[in-house]
Amino acid sequence: MMIKIVHEDKSPAKGLQQFFKQLLKLQEIDALFLPVRLKESNSIMPSLVTDPERIEDAVPFSPAFPINSARMVSRLSYKASKRKTAVVLRPCEMRAFIELVKLKQGSRQELILIGIDCPKALTSSDYAAYTKKDPLEDDAYIEAIFSQKIETLNGFQFSTACDTCENPFPVNTDISILLHGVDLSDGMIAESKSDDGRLLLESLKMPEAESPENRDETMMQIKEANSKANKIMMEDIGARTDSIVKLNTFFDQCINCYNCRNMCPVCYCKECVFNTDVFNHQPVQYLQWAEKKGVSSCPQIRCFIILPGWRI
Ligand code: SF4
Ligand code: SF4
Ligand code: SF4
Repeated sequence: MMIKIVHEDKSPAKGLQQFFKQLLKLQEIDALFLPVRLKESNSIMPSLVTDPERIEDAVPFSPAFPINSARMVSRLSYKASKRKTAVVLRPCEMRAFIELVKLKQGSRQELILIGIDCPKALTSSDYAAYTKKDPLEDDAYIEAIFSQKIETLNGFQFSTACDTCENPFPVNTDISILLHGVDLSDGMIAESKSDDGRLLLESLKMPEAESPENRDETMMQIKEANSKANKIMMEDIGARTDSIVKLNTFFDQCINCYNCRNMCPVCYCKECVFNTDVFNHQPVQYLQWAEKKGVSSCPQIRCFIILPGWRI
């Protein structure tokens, strides 16, 4: 089933807020998890909303992507809460969450998974600078991304992962929000992908929509362009890391802070090898390395931090 998400002002951002507000008002849904602009701040963080009036701060289609929320959704769902939560996730967050479900570190049981056509993201540092330099209004950002008329925003670049993302479309959802190939002046589309999703969309009593004519072609074009960019990037990285010497050079600024491990949603081990004594060498070992080479940087184990979720 497909329904149309329209707003009287023809504002996609407000239309989405209205859609999510109505969803949260349904008695079947107790909470919504989605990106929210923090009060008196430009920061946009994944948040759990229970008050429908607070949906006015929600920005599900924004250039901010501070963390992959899969790990947070895992925490929300790994045990029963006797509540139904609808979670709005980008495609890479959805893929990561599904991996955690397979590892029994999350469950779909009490969730409604809402996937979105991805609005891409600036790097975190660029997003911070972007907000200080006349950022686009939410509607203008949506228009810019989904009309695919621009590559950059006020000179700021999208993250490389987004420019090379081969699947920025919703997967494994109960409800998908579609914008690619859709005439946004006529509203967006919500499509049910499961019985639970269909029942919820029916309850909203919104006008039904037809499958967007240009969607498959638009998705194909995006996929082809991003796959091409991805291939070039992977060949470049391959050439820069195809020996242990080059791999060490690639990671030569790594300080073993383990932030990548902490942030990676599918760095899933209950006991991480980096929290064990495996790399706590005897003092003499460090000195022997230095004696052998004349100089030995500390720490030495940078290139062993290869995350399982390198490409989700
Ligand atoms: S990596 Fe892909 S799915 Fe994830 S935010 Fe970027 S474009 Fe979206
Ligand atoms: S690669 Fe990981 S461990 Fe190394 S500096 Fe970056 S975030 Fe920290
Ligand atoms: S760094 Fe390796 S051992 Fe540690 S959590 Fe990630 S995958 Fe597991």
